[in-house]
Amino acid sequence: MRILITGGAGFIGSHLAQTCLERGDEVYIIDDLSTGSMDNIRFLQDNPAYENKLFVHINTILNADIMLELTGICDMVFHLAAAVGVQTILDKPLESIVTNIQGTEKVLEMCNKFKKRVLIASTSEVYGKHMHAPLVETDNIIYGPSSKFRWSYAASKLMDEFTALAYHRTNGLEVTIARLFNTVGPRQTGAYGMVIPRFVTQALKNDPITVFGDGNQTRTFTFVKDVVTALIKLIESDQSVGEVFNVGGHEEISISDLAQKIIQMTGSSSTIKLIPYEEAFGKDFEDMLRRVPSTDKLESITGFKPDKRLDFILSQVIASIMGK
Ligand code: UDP
Repeated sequence: MRILITGGAGFIGSHLAQTCLERGDEVYIIDDLSTGSMDNIRFLQDNPAYENKLFVHINTILNADIMLELTGICDMVFHLAAAVGVQTILDKPLESIVTNIQGTEKVLEMCNKFKKRVLIASTSEVYGKHMHAPLVETDNIIYGPSSKFRWSYAASKLMDEFTALAYHRTNGLEVTIARLFNTVGPRQTGAYGMVIPRFVTQALKNDPITVFGDGNQTRTFTFVKDVVTALIKLIESDQSVGEVFNVGGHEEISISDLAQKIIQMTGSSSTIKLIPYEEAFGKDFEDMLRRVPSTDKLESITGFKPDKRLDFILSQVIASIMGK
């Protein structure tokens, strides 16, 4: 199979590229290195076994010529390129909206032109401010006002979902949408906000652990290899066409408890420092206080559900950051 991965030099994209190469696929990556990095894929490029199997294009998905060429060559497309991380969205709101909306439009337009199977990576952010658990794909969506820019990310990814589903309804394009919950693992950087690499890095330096808000907000975390398995199973399933799926872990933990756990697992002397949201992100910020997925739909179609425990995920991240 020839696989195109947009955002293939990113954290999740690079793990997906690795798995596809390991199973014998030819992999084409397009990445503008906005949050991705060559460091994520250098070990794949340096592997002689992948010399004629991996093709990397440092370019933007908004470039019609290159997207035309790559989509034409490949059998299926994983669209992972996006502005990611709460910090990125707040720092570069316009760029983020353009990348997420126009970029996805371009990918879908090309897939439709060549009738290529495509998986669109969406996000649990689209659910917005729910307090109930678990979140199911048919739940309503609740956002704050447009003055609070965090929701621009949710709204832009939701628009991506509508566009993809509209291509399916109107043109029969074979699309699947995966709503990714907090994904974690080796190679993820804390530079764009992501809590686990940030806390682990702080703990290993014995620096204060920066818990935003009161620390009672909760998350579940998914190991990146589980996410890769789910994405591949979804794109290979006929039953997933035209459908939306949660992809996420199941162990709910508060951010304060997460900080304690990381301190304990690293043997760190760090203390916990509570930082008000306003100080961390400015006044126009709202957090999502709870985010727990139902993965029943994923499991019913693919027979798979992410099952790596938080302790395992943390031990992998700690080992990878210590090894740097
Ligand atoms: N968070 C935190 N300290 C940090 C980074 C993040 O307390 O240094 C919190 C953040 O406010 C959120 C949770 O950890 O409640 C997860 O944040 P992340 O940016 O990883 O993902 P999100 O779920 O917000 O997209």
